[in-house]
Amino acid sequence: MSDCIFCKIANGEIPSNTIYENEDFRVILDNGPATKGHALVIPKKHYADLFEIPDDVLAGAVQTGKIVASMLKDKLGCDGVNLVQNNGAAAGQTVMHYHLHVIPRYENDGQHI
Ligand code: 5GP
Ligand code: ZN
Repeated sequence: MSDCIFCKIANGEIPSNTIYENEDFRVILDNGPATKGHALVIPKKHYADLFEIPDDVLAGAVQTGKIVASMLKDKLGCDGVNLVQNNGAAAGQTVMHYHLHVIPRYENDGQHI
């Protein structure tokens, strides 16, 4: 999708704060973080949401999210991690390219996710 911002970020056409990358995914820091270290797992191919992404890519997204969650736990010493993924505007999705949020949580961080 030529006008999709996450396609451009995932494929390196737009610079981003990348914290992890593999063949199928780029993981960047969210530019409006809910907490310190809030990251997004973005597939390099365009899928709008959960209903479009093939099961094998979905499994890869969760595996990548697990790697990144462990990385953030080690580096930031967070007390917990949320994996969150919105589908459709009614559910809070604002970027219509599938992405999995990895949100480090800290005791009393005041977030309600
Ligand atoms: P959604 O609401 O679609 O589940 O999540 C979109 C997320 O992407 C939001 O948390 C928002 O802050 C983040 N975001 C939107 N545009 C950009 C961008 O250009 N760069 C980065 N790093 N994050 C973005
Ligand atoms: Zn896209």
